[in-house]
Amino acid sequence: MTTYCGYIALVGRPNVGKSTLLNHILKQKLSITSRKPQTTRHSILGIQTEQAHQFIFVDTPGIHQGHKKTLNKMMNKTALNVLRDVDVIVFLVDGHHWTDEDDYVLKLIKRTETPCILAINKIDKLQSKDKVLPIISKLNELHDFNAIIPISAQNGSGVQSLLSEVKQQLPESPHYYGEDQFTDRPTKFLCAEMVREKIFRLSGQELPYSTTVDIESFKEEENLFEIHALILVDKPNHKRMIIGDKGVKLKEISTSARKDMEKLLGKKVFLRCWCKVKSGWLDDERLLKHLGYDN
Ligand code: GDP
Ligand code: MG
Repeated sequence: MTTYCGYIALVGRPNVGKSTLLNHILKQKLSITSRKPQTTRHSILGIQTEQAHQFIFVDTPGIHQGHKKTLNKMMNKTALNVLRDVDVIVFLVDGHHWTDEDDYVLKLIKRTETPCILAINKIDKLQSKDKVLPIISKLNELHDFNAIIPISAQNGSGVQSLLSEVKQQLPESPHYYGEDQFTDRPTKFLCAEMVREKIFRLSGQELPYSTTVDIESFKEEENLFEIHALILVDKPNHKRMIIGDKGVKLKEISTSARKDMEKLLGKKVFLRCWCKVKSGWLDDERLLKHLGYDN
């Protein structure tokens, strides 16, 4: 059997639905935890194998505007390198609004020669299907896209068409990962991300990159995992926001993260979370490397 395998960068500004789309694509595999160690070219987010075709979705850590902080600088350099190196880019936008941040991502894409598929997400929010045509023709002017596909990451419509467009760009190649492998990231990293996700969701405010999570201890006992997560913030008022009144917020964050971890690990989890202020961590290159932000 001829096999195909390639790297796909899923890019777009915050909130366009990247995580929702990826979860939709990988959903049936989210509970599998087996992983084989592999050497990788990129930081990999998700792997999906459909018979002859293996899709490897790679992370382009925060394509962000602003160049002041070391973290942003590192990330933008990484982002451009990733975009140049993958086989295909999926550029996710929200059909309703085009913002400066979308423009910024498009500029990065234009600095590459990589084939790019535009996915217009959240079409379930459009009142009628006719409304999508003018959006498509407008966005078509912006770049020489290989395809433009309207989708809803939430209900899955259009996602198969998107994947078949992506498929056509995957080069002939052996598969790099096992059929049932869905990520190459260490479990510890996924657990840290789970805590981070809850902070984003539950703190009611976006604190992108001013909060990070370090799993300080990760022990597997017979019946449970004991996990200690340290939440690092940049400012004392952020710490107050995360801890909340009488610690209620932090409790909520850790309960919700613990449930996700139990699903992932298939065992009971004892999770301890605490929060510490470390001013200037955004500029601390050594700490960032320790936390896995370098590529
Ligand atoms: P990301 O920041 O790009 O990863 O975006 P998320 O996947 O976290 O999604 C941001 C918000 O948009 C969440 O509240 C999602 O539930 C919502 N969302 C994502 N995809 C869709 C969609 O297709 N339709 C609708 N109505 N909402 C969506
Ligand atoms: Mg996301």
